[in-house]
Amino acid sequence: MNDNVICPECSNELKQGYIFSPRRICWSESADSIFADFGSEEVLINDAFLKISKTPAFRCEKCNLVIFKHK
Ligand SMILES: [Zn+2]
Repeated sequence: MNDNVICPECSNELKQGYIFSPRRICWSESADSIFADFGSEEVLINDAFLKISKTPAFRCEKCNLVIFKHK
C-alpha cells in the first residue's frame, strides 16, 4: 500500500497533517454572501464544544492546496 498522496495540481508529494478549527467549517456551492444561503449550507466539520477535534488532512506546500476528508 502506498501512503504517499500526490497533489492533483502539481504532482508534488502532499504532506500529511491535521486541520482544526474552533468554529465549524461549511461548504457552499455558491459564491454569494453567507447570508444568502444561511441555513442551507452543508457543515463539513462541526463546532467543537469541549475539545477541538482535528481532521486528518493533506497539504501541498507548493500550491497551497489542502485536501481533507470529512465525515
Ligand atoms: Zn500542488
